[in-house]
Amino acid sequence: MKAGAVFPAKRRVELVALEEPRISSATQVKLRILEVGVCGTDREICQFHHGIVPQGSEFLVLGHESLAEVVETGPAVGRFRPGDLAVPMVRLPCGHADRAACRGGRADFCSSGDFFERGIKQAHGFMTDFVVDEEAWLNPVPQELREVAVLVEPLTIAEKTLAEIRVIQQRLPYERRPGRAVVLGAGPVGLLGAMALVNAGFETYIYSREVPPNPRADVTAAIGATYISSQMQSAEQLARTVGNIDVVYEAIGASQTAFDLLEVLGANGLFCFTGVPRHGQPISVHADRLLYNLVLKNQAILGAVNAGRDAFDAAVRDLGLFYKRWPQAVRALITGRYPLAEFREPIVVPSGIKNIIVLDGKN
Ligand SMILES: [Zn+2]
Repeated sequence: MKAGAVFPAKRRVELVALEEPRISSATQVKLRILEVGVCGTDREICQFHHGIVPQGSEFLVLGHESLAEVVETGPAVGRFRPGDLAVPMVRLPCGHADRAACRGGRADFCSSGDFFERGIKQAHGFMTDFVVDEEAWLNPVPQELREVAVLVEPLTIAEKTLAEIRVIQQRLPYERRPGRAVVLGAGPVGLLGAMALVNAGFETYIYSREVPPNPRADVTAAIGATYISSQMQSAEQLARTVGNIDVVYEAIGASQTAFDLLEVLGANGLFCFTGVPRHGQPISVHADRLLYNLVLKNQAILGAVNAGRDAFDAAVRDLGLFYKRWPQAVRALITGRYPLAEFREPIVVPSGIKNIIVLDGKN
């Protein structure tokens, strides 16, 4: 079988031939991969800025956003049967006995940095026909979500962040509404984050470059959020339009725009960073104003990466809710489908909102 892979040392991105994997322990599950989503992380890996091959391999199989069908189970597997749908975890724990997060089942909070990530860091990804994985790393998905469940993994980022928003905003010990949220960026993580915020009761705004009308603004309107182009309103104008900004969910990884928005975060506001910037030139920020606001407005700043099992469970549950509430908008997030043979195209030449690689089991 073939797989989409990157050879960092040779600086090549190409198909490789792999042996079809076999179950080798009682707790394993053999999966047929149905779909793999591609994102900015894959692009960074294919531009050789990011991505580490597994030990002993000269290539890394790509693909961390996936949807799979169970085809075979080891004798000790209890939660899955052939035909079931599953979304595998991306991050696997480090091996250090003294690292509480990884030992406690929360590798997304790994403190050693020695974690593994499927398709990203020292573990092959899912961009191939068959994969064998441990039952413990699989999240069940109902059949009704077959068409859109490849979006579960990008939604987990928002779910992890929302769970943290709920905990952190308990610091405000008075009766309050969810408030007003601004999502920075209208990519898949931003749009899914906006769905999660609307669903959680926030009055939600999306702040993004492209001028409407455009498909991202259409999705925004369909979910009852408001789209504002950064080419039409500065951060200060945005803040006047929105009113007190209670939460910012940053999902673009562009430092200047993020700090411009941090300057207009509201009283008691929480700024959540989820985008990963490329290491570029230093930028200029108005540090006095930022610190002044942080203190005098009781603000908080949070960074969040990856997601634990609770976020995967929440993402499966909420994607089901979004799909019932806004079926067209959820479907509209998937804008391109490519066979494995053309896996490079949507990675190298990004277009649309979310592009996916559709596997057929015959590569
Ligand atoms: Zn760890």
